[in-house]
Amino acid sequence: MKLAIIGGGPAGLSLAYLLKDCRNLDLTIFEAEERVGGKSFTYERAGHAFEMGTCYATRGDRLARKWMKDLGINFKRLGEATFEGTEFYSFAKQAAGPSLMIQGLTYLISRARLLRQLKINPDDPEVLSEAAMPVQDWLRERSLHKMERLFYRGMTTMGYGQPSETATIQGLRWIDRSLLISGMFNDLVMPEEGWSEFWRRIAERLDVRLGHRIETVQRNEAGVGIAWPDGREWFDYVVCAIPIDEFVALCQPPTESEQKVSEDVSWNGFVTTLAAVDDWFEREAARSFAGGILPDAMPGRLLSARFEAYEPELGGRLYMLNQLRGEFQHDELEEIAARDIEMDGGRLKHTLYQKSWKYHAFYKRDAIRKGLLTRLREMQGEKRSFYTGAAFSHEAVSKITQFNTELAARIARIARTHERQPAE
Ligand SMILES: Cc1cc2nc3c(=O)[nH]c(=O)nc-3n(C[C@H](O)[C@H](O)[C@H](O)COP(=O)(O)OP(=O)(O)OC[C@H]3O[C@@H](n4cnc5c(N)ncnc54)[C@H](O)[C@@H]3O)c2cc1C
Repeated sequence: MKLAIIGGGPAGLSLAYLLKDCRNLDLTIFEAEERVGGKSFTYERAGHAFEMGTCYATRGDRLARKWMKDLGINFKRLGEATFEGTEFYSFAKQAAGPSLMIQGLTYLISRARLLRQLKINPDDPEVLSEAAMPVQDWLRERSLHKMERLFYRGMTTMGYGQPSETATIQGLRWIDRSLLISGMFNDLVMPEEGWSEFWRRIAERLDVRLGHRIETVQRNEAGVGIAWPDGREWFDYVVCAIPIDEFVALCQPPTESEQKVSEDVSWNGFVTTLAAVDDWFEREAARSFAGGILPDAMPGRLLSARFEAYEPELGGRLYMLNQLRGEFQHDELEEIAARDIEMDGGRLKHTLYQKSWKYHAFYKRDAIRKGLLTRLREMQGEKRSFYTGAAFSHEAVSKITQFNTELAARIARIARTHERQPAE
């Protein structure tokens, strides 16, 4: 069976890696850029490696961590992360209610209950309404005020939205037991050789065609025609490992579900800037900021910053600044960052490199009430097409690889029983 994967980011590559030894499967990945990794991107300068995209792996990243070990990639731990210079847990503990431990356990039990309900009764309006409500309301209904504060650290700092906006299902999917434990023990690791190198080593073992930007996808009963600027090939199945709205633009024509889902999710812009800053935090590895993450925070305000390296050649102490793009231009973002840094006691000297990412597929809450979650599941396999990536799981490597484990098993089952039919 011939399978085309469109997109050589973590979603496409991890799915292909899971399937690499599958019998009767001939698999090709098409990647538009001349490098693999997508939003995992290490910028190398003056002998340093700076992560402009994917930064760390949590405890939940079992597969990625295992593959890193297998491929000779070493880990380094991310040091302490604070909230405006103080330990984040102490900020969480100041909120009302029983101890954080008790609230954490209550949270995990309630979370498991809702996820189970969504499995057993996926179309029950009450269950859907609970999944769609802002996660802040869901936490408050259960008096989980300390947990609500942890959501600012675990969810909002990461650019996954405010608890007052993000649907409960998206908050709950991300904040799971292993993330809470990773946070508690500061068990976050980064690949020493860089995320780009990790995905490059994965890709070495696969058939990846770099510089192949797919322009059209044509599907009929016999197969899927994939075309790039100077070529075209037929496959039995296709996997969309790019944002669903971009896939819809390639399809001639898209299915009703593809069209609907692309309308039901919206994307944020996330901007990372490598900058030289004087007189700023030195004790901790990373710091998040109230101005960027607490209620009513404006996009553009600094969410967090991470100390990267000391390099006199590049201006001294270097930090990675994280901001939501909102409607701002790059120079406006720089101005806002400079002001936020100044309020925190530092002085922005100059910026060295900036990347702007399409980030986090935000589910419209009304769409969840109207069956988005079922649609995301049931459209898999329709018209010889499968889907992976942030819109179908969550914007994090751990969630994408977990999701791909099930998807790979399903594709492997089809491959085993597939008999070649003449395409076209
Ligand atoms: C700043 C930042 C920090 C992050 N930090 C973390 C973190 O600490 N931990 C974590 O787990 N996750 C983190 N993430 C999230 C993680 O990087 C993403 O969830 C992951 O990269 C998504 O993988 P993907 O393959 O779905 O999409 P992408 O990474 O976007 O990859 C899609 C690929 O498809 C290619 N493509 C697009 N269109 C076409 C086309 N027409 N034809 C062929 N190829 C095409 C693109 O070039 C790209 O390579 C972070 C992301 C960002 C931006």
